[in-house]
Amino acid sequence: MNSINSSVFALKSTQIAIHGELTPAQILIKNGKITTIADYDAVLAVKAEDFGDQVIMPGLVDTHVHINEPGRTEWEGFNTGTQSAAAGGITCVVDMPLNCTPVTTNVNALRQKLDSLKGKLWIDCGFWGGVIPDSLNDLDELLKAGVLGVKSFTIHSGIDDFPKVEQQHLSQAIDILAKHSVPYLIHAELDSGDSEPVEIGDNYQSFLQSRPKSWENNAIAMMIDLAEKAKSKGVLGKIHIVHLSSAEALPAIKSAQQRGLQLSAESCPHYLTLVAEDIPNGKTLFKCCPPIREQHNREHLWQGLADGTISFIVSDHSPCTPVLKHINTGDIEKAWGGISSLQFGLSIIWTEAQQRGYSLLDVVNWMATEPANFAGLGHRKGQIAYGYDADLVVFDPEATYRIDRNMIKYRHKITPYEGREVHGIVKRTYVRGQLVYNDNQLIGKPIGLPILANS
Ligand SMILES: [Zn+2]
Repeated sequence: MNSINSSVFALKSTQIAIHGELTPAQILIKNGKITTIADYDAVLAVKAEDFGDQVIMPGLVDTHVHINEPGRTEWEGFNTGTQSAAAGGITCVVDMPLNCTPVTTNVNALRQKLDSLKGKLWIDCGFWGGVIPDSLNDLDELLKAGVLGVKSFTIHSGIDDFPKVEQQHLSQAIDILAKHSVPYLIHAELDSGDSEPVEIGDNYQSFLQSRPKSWENNAIAMMIDLAEKAKSKGVLGKIHIVHLSSAEALPAIKSAQQRGLQLSAESCPHYLTLVAEDIPNGKTLFKCCPPIREQHNREHLWQGLADGTISFIVSDHSPCTPVLKHINTGDIEKAWGGISSLQFGLSIIWTEAQQRGYSLLDVVNWMATEPANFAGLGHRKGQIAYGYDADLVVFDPEATYRIDRNMIKYRHKITPYEGREVHGIVKRTYVRGQLVYNDNQLIGKPIGLPILANS
């Protein structure tokens, strides 16, 4: 244990997010853990640093990030990705099993990933494994090696080494996963072959038309059906729909939840804050799959969050090189589908949540507590509570800024949010009691740790 980690210090503020309230308090941190939560005026063993009325909240947990290392570090990497996360108030990410090479579908690939990240993590990082048709025999061992759950696609993933699965693979995976009680993350789009091929080129509306809501709705209906079948055999699979975009699927998800199926869903800042009507042709930065949809769809997604049908918000940070993003050609059809936004999710969501009457505590719940619970980390991350990791963010909720490419700490300085005026600035980020980010600067050296299940 290093010297910083073993130190004792305290922070105070009139607004600390504790047990669902913003309350005046002090927190004492020892050996990287929260060891005391005291009254604002209590006398502690050490004098607390006073942050006035700035908010102290738990570090965000982002369970949907594509770091792409090893193998596609020209797209992103652990060093730049986790620096950007720290600057965005994120203290733990869970990395996706693609688009790294090799894809994380067996233990050997996981080991290569763990080797590749040494000395590069600025925050903590867990890992999702992947299930493809050829990897079902590797799944049990991969889970034992410490991935927090696994992901499959029901449609082409964008890269050929992560092929889609069919119903029989999904059923087999559900059976194996249920024994480990970890979630099965599904990219839920099903190309039913019933839509006319659309000429896309640089036209956003054509791209939107090419990936209709029905693709998501049908894939989600299929997953609910498979979960029902598993349940009838006594297998309770935890199925999770990643990056929900089609609000039309919300009633089916809600009804499945009410029937006792363990079905959950996440959505992302881009589906909750952007709308298709405002996306100009040729602006490839807005391309992602499933697509950003219409304004009325966006408002229904917020309702899904409010009533708990959607449990949490994650970035789905999925960058690539500017050339592959076809920034200069404007070719939406050929551009890589993925949004770069990791660092800005908190400000973007806080800005829009406020406009709809939600509180910062709602945002903390959606971006820290619920995703931590989902990844099996809810006993030590996602809350400010006794015995928890001192993953903390000092946040000024009133301050505003304009998103500018010069602020970007991830590899490629591109984002669809450039120029947006947003509320809320991350002033400081602590990971297990260690200051890693302070006023626009990364501090010290990468002290993040890989997180493996049961470790
Ligand atoms: Zn993704």
